[in-house]
Amino acid sequence: MIYLGVCGWPVAHSRSPQMHNAALAAAGLADWRYLRLPLPPGLFAETVRALPAAGFRGVNVTIPHKHAALAVADRASDAAQAIGAANTLTFEDGAIVADNTDAPGLLGALPYSPAGKTALILGAGGAGRAAAWALKGAGAADVAIWNRTPERAIALAAQLGVRAVETPEMAEILVNCTSVGLNDPEATFKALPVRADELGAGSLVVDMVYRAGGTHLLEAARTRGAGVIDGLEILVAQGAASFERWTGLEAPREAMRVAATTIAET
Ligand code: NAP
Repeated sequence: MIYLGVCGWPVAHSRSPQMHNAALAAAGLADWRYLRLPLPPGLFAETVRALPAAGFRGVNVTIPHKHAALAVADRASDAAQAIGAANTLTFEDGAIVADNTDAPGLLGALPYSPAGKTALILGAGGAGRAAAWALKGAGAADVAIWNRTPERAIALAAQLGVRAVETPEMAEILVNCTSVGLNDPEATFKALPVRADELGAGSLVVDMVYRAGGTHLLEAARTRGAGVIDGLEILVAQGAASFERWTGLEAPREAMRVAATTIAET
């Protein structure tokens, strides 16, 4: 048996196991399994180092371990190094290799290239960092970052060569990388510096948050004619990139999408 998994604390609600096990089944990898690995922060590094001997080929890493995942790695991709965080570890030839598939996941879920477009990112945590790096690297004409705690946006903007803003203006691509709307959808337009009536036709609104029934941000954007990308699409895209990294096979995206969507709606 070959094992994969997702390390977080807690990871009780992660949709990754169902999504990846559906992908493994669809790809005919009958002797592979993807497991939940709830790891408290103090045990992360020593547990990860022990995983290859226990039969693991790789793991996804989620909150709060994405920085520790980069630190524990022997090698890291350009994306993981530049973003300063890893969401995918691969165990190969006795080494731990770190990648960040959140960035290609975002780009892969967009319906068009962001080259030459203006972008506004809300949030300067792990997802915000990945989004800023991805959009700037893909040639966006302007990448602005707003964060509730402005110092974090200022530091991130300085590191990645983008702009921090205190009062954001709408852009062609809006990416919500805060956790606002996850647990209390009603808080969305109180906590974020955008108004529902600013989300109009011609703009594209991406919400990294995914929840059963969708988010208020995307509902408002859709109602006003904006293009929308659901966080589930990003989840599928970043999961597909991890799957391909571990298995060398093309990811069965439709099986992953169906599994992730089915779970999201239950
Ligand atoms: P994180 O590193 O903990 O960052 C959280 C961000 O949310 C920070 O910018 C934080 O601002 C902001 N925030 C939290 N509560 C807020 C509030 N009440 N008002 C305004 N801002 C608030 O988390 P993350 O890893 O970046 O993830 C962010 C969200 O994206 C999560 O919901 C996560 O599930 C989702 N995500 C989805 C995918 C996907 O595949 N779809 C991938 C990655 C992440 P402060 O700095 O001021 O605290």
